[in-house]
Amino acid sequence: MRGAVLHGAGDVRVEDLPMPTVQEPTDAVIRLAAACVCGSDLWPYRGADEIREPRPMGHEYVGVIEEVGSAVSNVKVGDFVVGSFIASDNTCEICRSGYQSACVQRVGMTGSQAEYLRVPLADGTLVATPGEPAPDLIPSLLAASDVLGTGWFAAAAAQAGPGRTVAVVGDGAVGLLGVLAAREMGAERIIALSRHADRQALATEFGATDIVTERGDEGAAAVKELTDGLGAHSVIEAVGTQEAMLQAIRSTRPGGHVGFVGVSHGVEIPGRLLFGSHVHLHGGPAPVREYLPELIDLIWDRRIDPGRVFDLEVPLEDAAEAYRAMDERRAIKALLRV
Ligand SMILES: [Zn+2]
Repeated sequence: MRGAVLHGAGDVRVEDLPMPTVQEPTDAVIRLAAACVCGSDLWPYRGADEIREPRPMGHEYVGVIEEVGSAVSNVKVGDFVVGSFIASDNTCEICRSGYQSACVQRVGMTGSQAEYLRVPLADGTLVATPGEPAPDLIPSLLAASDVLGTGWFAAAAAQAGPGRTVAVVGDGAVGLLGVLAAREMGAERIIALSRHADRQALATEFGATDIVTERGDEGAAAVKELTDGLGAHSVIEAVGTQEAMLQAIRSTRPGGHVGFVGVSHGVEIPGRLLFGSHVHLHGGPAPVREYLPELIDLIWDRRIDPGRVFDLEVPLEDAAEAYRAMDERRAIKALLRV
């Protein structure tokens, strides 16, 4: 089968790879309906993470089950399924508390930018859709696998809700879907921080009521200006850099909440800033599995259209171009046709 492999910074190749097989009784193998490139894939692509050996890429997936192990009973061959970027048993104490991404048996997924994928802990990880989805729903279901679920967790961690002002730092796919999530959770006002016209337009479509183009301390000052000098109740940090994290903390009012989901790279929070801020910080790898049933329902009923974040579609064979386009910010998020 064919799959995308990262060999070094800027070097993605689509190659012949071994066909995935059921290795454990709890495994399933799925045939991908579509694949995609994640903003977090750009960290190793840009050389920010060390690449010791060629790495099969991709951790977002939807598709049809081809084979299941003998211990799998919640899903069956032929089911169309959505899973999370972290496989989980969904039965341990941590899973049952809603933190499946920290499951005691968790397995980080990779290799989904390919034709087939082995999914460990299939019973806990995979959620079947009510039937075979219409083709136009597939991008949205694929978004549920990571970027939507991550934006959703960010909004929940930031305690977005009725009567609240939510500010969103980061205009990538996760930030934009954080806007959508905040709207679905009933936020009164949603401030999107973006300096790109196409992303501002999508943020507005997803529910943003205000756009701020400044960044860093100026961005935080602009959010305060829009909130009577107080700061937002809820701030989503969807970048992972020092500037974005400090901007998020400084944009939050005392007693407010920061939901941080940008994969942290070099972030160090000064103790005095944190001490004086009176903010709640909560985040990390999103427990997407917790939200999948609800997100699949919203997509199935066509109440939300998170697939709008895909503004580039290329065949799997052209994965290198998908990476380049996202790296150069020519595309928000690239879908790979399998
Ligand atoms: Zn668990």
